[in-house]
Amino acid sequence: MTLTDVIEVLEAAYPPARAESWDAVGLVSGDPGQEVRRVLFAVDPVAVVAAEALEWEADLIVTHHPLYLRGTTSVAATTPKGRLIRTLIKNDVALYTAHTNADVANPGVSDALARAVGLAGDLVPLQPFPDDPWRGLGRIGELPGRMTLEEFAERAAEGLPRTGAGIRVAGDLSRPVTRVAVSGGAGDSLLERAKAAGVDVFLTADLRHHPASEFVESGGPALIDAAHWATEWPWLDSAASILRDSGVTVETRVSATVTDAWTRGY
Ligand SMILES: [Zn+2]
Repeated sequence: MTLTDVIEVLEAAYPPARAESWDAVGLVSGDPGQEVRRVLFAVDPVAVVAAEALEWEADLIVTHHPLYLRGTTSVAATTPKGRLIRTLIKNDVALYTAHTNADVANPGVSDALARAVGLAGDLVPLQPFPDDPWRGLGRIGELPGRMTLEEFAERAAEGLPRTGAGIRVAGDLSRPVTRVAVSGGAGDSLLERAKAAGVDVFLTADLRHHPASEFVESGGPALIDAAHWATEWPWLDSAASILRDSGVTVETRVSATVTDAWTRGY
């Protein structure tokens, strides 16, 4: 299989045209004609992930987060990003990114997150595209049974990969919850959407004190703030299985290395 064959499958699932205008998705390095036998999936394009790719002899790394988002005038090995791209090119490992186009896909990042924390049945976008009600940011779904916020938080913590900082909960722990909104990655822009949707709890990442406090005080849904990396990690297996099921004969592996920014909470 060539890199082009693999990219065709990924772009059918995650059309680059659906990425945000500020985003940088697609092929970062690599030759479209190069042979691909092993594909490593990871959230972050960072040194430990590159080391894992070299050790496993991957030909391609597919990451959720872009390596470069802003104008770049040097890839010299004088910065972490320069060292990373140099390592990949020297070892013939391609790098491909599916970021906001994977967030809004169906199934996308938040579908995998919803399933990981125990939502069952149909999932609908929290912020659907005007022209497509089945695609968009975040997902709303139902828990299989009524439970308290505390029980759901424990279930979410169990369903997500462990990180140093764990998850944080805002709201009355005894509050009953059934209808849940989730959004992988930083979801504070969707707070008002979650309130308008009338969900019992909104699970996302990177929430800040003031917006969270005001949200809960105003009678909005309870909030669960998980580690950014952990909310996006479940998508990696979904993306890998799309590639495996496509008929493209490559070996896939999901990196279990925790690359969340927060190493430990005390
Ligand atoms: Zn993210």
